[in-house]
Amino acid sequence: MEPILELKNIHYAYHSPEGETKTLTDLSFSVLPGEFVAIVGPSGCGKSTLLSIMCGLIEPEKGLIRLNGKYLRESTTNIGYMLQHDHLFEWRTIYHNVLLGLEIQHMLSARSREHAHELLEQYGLKQFEHAKPSQLSGGMRQRAALIRTLVLDPDILLLDEPFSALDYQTRLTVCDDIGQILKEAQKTAVLVTHDLSEAVSMADRVIVLTQRPATVTKVIPVTFELEKDTPMQRRNAPEFKQYFNLIWKELNHDA
Ligand code: ADP
Ligand code: MG
Repeated sequence: MEPILELKNIHYAYHSPEGETKTLTDLSFSVLPGEFVAIVGPSGCGKSTLLSIMCGLIEPEKGLIRLNGKYLRESTTNIGYMLQHDHLFEWRTIYHNVLLGLEIQHMLSARSREHAHELLEQYGLKQFEHAKPSQLSGGMRQRAALIRTLVLDPDILLLDEPFSALDYQTRLTVCDDIGQILKEAQKTAVLVTHDLSEAVSMADRVIVLTQRPATVTKVIPVTFELEKDTPMQRRNAPEFKQYFNLIWKELNHDA
């Protein structure tokens, strides 16, 4: 199978009058279609920078990125992006928040509006369509943000610590919830996080980064023997701790 996303020998540094901050160094990995990859690394190692590079917001200094075999700039592959904060607008209803990306990309049509209604119904937010974001719980808001991304039908989803602003209890449920939605939709996803349990509970593969300047130190395939392979079930499975410890050691062996 050909990778949907390929990064080769990526280098990046931020420049300021005080000097340069080397952020990514010789970083390479690839993602297969339908795969859920988690990238873990210590805070400040360059994870958000890496996602910005993957979606073309910033250019790497060296290295190449291919999406479905084409250079990022020439690619027509649709990328969805979901951030730590849900960025829902309080002056818009949930339905109108979900339509935002479609509006910006001039893709609003009877069909796409219908799709938005379908997704809201499918993911349990139908009765909140006309509600304002502040009337929803943190978990529901994050779900609305996910629907806003999914309605654009992205080929690949990039998630930047999407649960880290939620409290612990909510984080567990939302992670379980969103993990199952993405699996059902068979979306290719790349999640960056500093939370090892989140990575182990959601990913098919975990890519471990070093401290800044980040590079890949280890790639760990994650498999669970479970009848129903959900993030919550994984957390309770015996393999969970083994994977957690393995990644923990990998992250800390140069500390
Ligand atoms: P992470 O997401 O892993 O916490 P980031 O990619 O946000 O890490 O940041 C990596 C490093 O780059 C940090 O040291 C951060 O201070 C620095 N950095 C991030 N954004 C900028 C910027 N716009 N200008 C200068 N330095 C930045
Ligand atoms: Mg970050």
